[in-house]
Amino acid sequence: MRERYDAIVLGLGGIGSGAAYWLARRGARVLGLEQFELGHARGESHDHSRIIRLSYHTPNYVELAKRAYESWAMVELDSGERIVYKTGGLDLGPRGGAISLDGYADAMRASGVEFETLDATEIRRRFPAFAIDDDVWGLFQADSGIVAAERATASHQRMAQVHGARLLSNVRVERVELSGADITVHTQDASYRTSQLIVCAGPWTNTMLAGANLHLPLEVTKEQAMYFRPADASAFAFGEFPVWIWMDDPSFYGFPVFGEAGAVKVTQDAGGKAADPDTRGFEEDPEITARVRRFLHAHLPALDSPPQLVKTCLYTLTPDRDFVIDTVPGTKNVHVAIGAGHAFKFASVIGRILTELALDGTTQSDISDFTLARPILSMAEPPKTYMV
Ligand SMILES: Cc1cc2nc3c(=O)[nH]c(=O)nc-3n(C[C@H](O)[C@H](O)[C@H](O)COP(=O)(O)OP(=O)(O)OC[C@H]3O[C@@H](n4cnc5c(N)ncnc54)[C@H](O)[C@@H]3O)c2cc1C
Repeated sequence: MRERYDAIVLGLGGIGSGAAYWLARRGARVLGLEQFELGHARGESHDHSRIIRLSYHTPNYVELAKRAYESWAMVELDSGERIVYKTGGLDLGPRGGAISLDGYADAMRASGVEFETLDATEIRRRFPAFAIDDDVWGLFQADSGIVAAERATASHQRMAQVHGARLLSNVRVERVELSGADITVHTQDASYRTSQLIVCAGPWTNTMLAGANLHLPLEVTKEQAMYFRPADASAFAFGEFPVWIWMDDPSFYGFPVFGEAGAVKVTQDAGGKAADPDTRGFEEDPEITARVRRFLHAHLPALDSPPQLVKTCLYTLTPDRDFVIDTVPGTKNVHVAIGAGHAFKFASVIGRILTELALDGTTQSDISDFTLARPILSMAEPPKTYMV
């Protein structure tokens, strides 16, 4: 007799752990399956921190971000652990840069989010660590900050179990068998039955969707986060220095001191090379390091030194950089989420949305931009727009 669950979550990284939590919190009988140890460093979700922000390029993302903050607050209340740390956020770049600051400002205005517009003089006055020309400008949004990523995932996992979920680590799903309302998930040692399957497999998504006859034009890249240790970290202290994004191509982003003593995390967005998640290495990419060092030399000179610590991590990129959050066409009970390299801040709310799709057949959030039916996902060689 195969064990039967209301829902099986395939993959317990950031998003899958969120789904397991919200499903269990809603009272579903849940099984979560993870091929590696919980909290492993071979996917997309490890390390201390991720940026969370309301500042986004469309009102739809801004609205989703509002619900992301609300969802993390509910997890914090339930778990008694602090997950979100607000330190303020600065999106800045040269006028006419590759990523439109005006678009961000318009989206926030449309969603009623307060922000400040800063010229170069004001940016230098508030954050003297930045060396910028007079043509640089920025948007400051006070609610931006950090999601304590590893703690958030651990918290989702712990509380999912408190609410009754069964989470199995070091169990690889080999195959998924769909038969109408009934789904069988096969691992090496066992098979499990369920009526709802939630696929949160990150870089392994296409392998896992093969059973549903779906193949998406995803690019998996090997990215890296770098920690730099300034001689004097006081200008980068949490509460003094913001999270920031350089809105040009290449795009860089960084944090105040958080997680590593006296060290500041900075990296390039989507600067990595294509990688196979099963055979990728964990070594530093000297080209990314060189690009980041050039940026630091020009704009954050106090950080311009060899990185003290380099951590590699994967992105699963859709060609338009938009998420996938949807029910697989032709099924009513296979739901999938893909984070497109910017979803940790949304990990809890995406887990909540997947739970709504599985248990209610609909969701409170507008996920129309994240549909599997968008034409670009049917193209064999779609144009890629990673700067958003
Ligand atoms: C360097 C870096 C910086 C980032 N910065 C930010 C940021 O500042 N803000 C932000 O919001 N986002 C950021 N992101 C993006 C964000 O971290 C990801 O979008 C998010 O973590 C994706 O989570 P996931 O659950 O989809 O993927 P993963 O964490 O990779 O989870 C997928 C899981 O599925 C498991 N799995 C796959 N196949 C199987 C199988 N067959 N059987 C069992 N288990 C399986 C995997 O082992 C894995 O644990 C960053 C990402 C990186 C790499």
